[in-house]
Amino acid sequence: MTLPRMGHAFERKRQRMVSEQLIARGISDERVIVAMQEVPRHLFVDDALGSHAYKDKSLPIGAGQTISQPYMVAKMTQLLELQSHERVLEIGTGCGYQTAVLSRLCRRVYSIERIPALLEKARANLRAARHANVMLKCADGTLGWHEYAPFDAILAAAGGLNVPDAWMDQLRDGGLLVMPVGGNGQHILTRCRKRGGEFEEDRFDDCCFVPLVDEV
Ligand code: SAH
Repeated sequence: MTLPRMGHAFERKRQRMVSEQLIARGISDERVIVAMQEVPRHLFVDDALGSHAYKDKSLPIGAGQTISQPYMVAKMTQLLELQSHERVLEIGTGCGYQTAVLSRLCRRVYSIERIPALLEKARANLRAARHANVMLKCADGTLGWHEYAPFDAILAAAGGLNVPDAWMDQLRDGGLLVMPVGGNGQHILTRCRKRGGEFEEDRFDDCCFVPLVDEV
């Protein structure tokens, strides 16, 4: 009896998160909204943090890393303008929550995490949530994932001063890349579109991400 009731409580919190934190702040892509309504964020964080899962904040996921605040996950996803046919490279799997959201909106997600314990956590979370169109690997994501390039879209969940060259090389022409760009924990959510070897850059929200580390 207890478990279904708790499920309903989380469901209500999740719907409120979507209307108050996402729609109210300009998230308008219907498919992103539905994915955020459906992915059970509380199952991706430790049990002790479950009651905080739908709050307007980032949360610790272990190994000094964090799961981004729901708005930032939705915003980054919306900026990729996914239609459903895309192959997406994600850097920084963390607990797998952003991966789960992406996987509902595209053909396949290729996600790289440098910390083995987090990758295992993500693997278990994604398996429990039955996300089959996801490939994971433990490696330095700054090198991209050459075997599966080019990608239609790339999302980095960790911030750095520059977009690594490998990502630009592995993005298909016309593709979109989203990354928090900046130093000292102060980033600007940045989107690059690749067009004929050139990159058009647009800047969005100020944000604060964990750093993109360039060795494993
Ligand atoms: N989107 C994740 C948030 C992860 S936080 C989630 O939903 O949980 C960012 C992650 O990027 C951390 O887990 C960190 O270990 C990872 N990371 C940082 N630098 C990396 C690199 N060079 N390659 C792969 N992963 C990296």
